Amino acid sequence: MIAITQALSLEGLNGFLIDVEADVGNGVPAFNLLGLPDASLSEARDRVRSAIINSQAQWPNKRITLALSPASLPKRGSAFDCAIALALLAAAEEISLERLNGSVILGELTLDGRIKAVAGILPALRAAAHHGISRAIIPSQNFHEGSLVSSMEISHFSHLRELIGWCKGNELAEPIHRIAYGESDEIEKVNSTLDFSDISGQESAKEALEIGAVGGHHIAMVGPPGVGKSMLAERIPTILPELNERDSLEVTSLHSIAGKISSESRWPLIAVPPFVAPHHTITRAGLIGGGSAVISPGACSLAHRGILFLDEAPELARTVIESLREPMELGEITLTRLGRSATFPAHFTLVLASNPCPCGWAIGKGKRCTCTPLASRRYRERLSGPILDRIDLRIELEPLSQADLLRTGESSDRIRERVARARARAVTRFRDMPWSINSEIPAVALRHQFAPEPKALGVLYQALDNEEITVRALHRIQRVAWSIADLREEPSPSRSTIDRALDLHLRERL
Ligand SMILES: [Zn+2]
Repeated sequence: MIAITQALSLEGLNGFLIDVEADVGNGVPAFNLLGLPDASLSEARDRVRSAIINSQAQWPNKRITLALSPASLPKRGSAFDCAIALALLAAAEEISLERLNGSVILGELTLDGRIKAVAGILPALRAAAHHGISRAIIPSQNFHEGSLVSSMEISHFSHLRELIGWCKGNELAEPIHRIAYGESDEIEKVNSTLDFSDISGQESAKEALEIGAVGGHHIAMVGPPGVGKSMLAERIPTILPELNERDSLEVTSLHSIAGKISSESRWPLIAVPPFVAPHHTITRAGLIGGGSAVISPGACSLAHRGILFLDEAPELARTVIESLREPMELGEITLTRLGRSATFPAHFTLVLASNPCPCGWAIGKGKRCTCTPLASRRYRERLSGPILDRIDLRIELEPLSQADLLRTGESSDRIRERVARARARAVTRFRDMPWSINSEIPAVALRHQFAPEPKALGVLYQALDNEEITVRALHRIQRVAWSIADLREEPSPSRSTIDRALDLHLRERL
């Protein structure tokens, strides 16, 4: 007899429905798997066989053929185990598929029959919903994450024995109920232990970070060790507005594929812009994504709609930091492995931090710089021009004075209110446009409908003539000027606003 169940294969955030067809017939006992399976899928036959036997079900001692179709689509990983086991048992007339009708089935089996969590449940169920599927069978450990897809009717199991029993008509022992969006008090809030009021002084750095938060502009911070670069950077999410529902689901999906969603969390939706701070020894694959069996997103996609913070940026290998060019230009990254490709969104704000020189003391009066001019130049040149050219705001930090240390900083709540008001002005201005923040204004729009006053622009053209800035920087400075104008509640960037944007662009020792 032949039986068919449905599973799903992910490529990036896209998913494709896969039919799992089992044919159990008479003949010499055998188990054949057809349809481009990868190594971990080939091992499915052993896992599924042991799991079925350890679930007190009958293993069909017959000629078994399994086909995964469409054959042309890639199928990887272990999320197909449950769909394979059920198709096989139905083809052997052990169970009925009536209760599984129209369901997508996801779950990995252990040899003793337990159903293990799989990565990427959220994007998988969103993709299934996109293909018109409204019911899903998933591992219990993935239940909270799966529940984020509100249109999906979900049944979840932690052992194959329960799943087989349910197919035979048993009721579930312990149903877990879904929590409706907005009802949970466990939604991840901004890490409340961090606040800008913790940092005294550094006012001009805070001003630049606030402007960056309004428009999503890339930032470089230069200063001696211990001056507070990391402290400032990790507080940026506390002044950013929460993510909207669409962005939250997209960000959570990326973290899900990377296996970073805890099954313990009752409401795993990421509503706060993520802050991702990889160590400077990170590899290219770690930064932009990669992997052999399953293509997994890297740090730049985990920082999607949030902050990618690279401390000690000149210590990164040049090929690693240069790999950020594509996502910085396109807002996404396409990874190709063995002829397959996956695209992940990667729309992040880059925040680089660096010492001014190898010893760190070329800025400030704390200690004397002991570096040779050549060593200092080599150090600065490690940050590639193409990346630096994409930085909008440059901040130079000096060690705090005694007077600074006595001052209390403004709270993150108050700064976030200003950022939200400024962002709202941009959203209103761009209401008929396909973008909503200033860093995304296309160059052509800066020349036409969103061009600042010609007389305000004079200073920029002069800087261009003097070769102080590039043409790309000319546009980047105008985008920053729009963010400053939104904070100052100007209808369009004034002369003094553009001066400030140029100053923040040029002020650097990198
Ligand atoms: Zn030095």
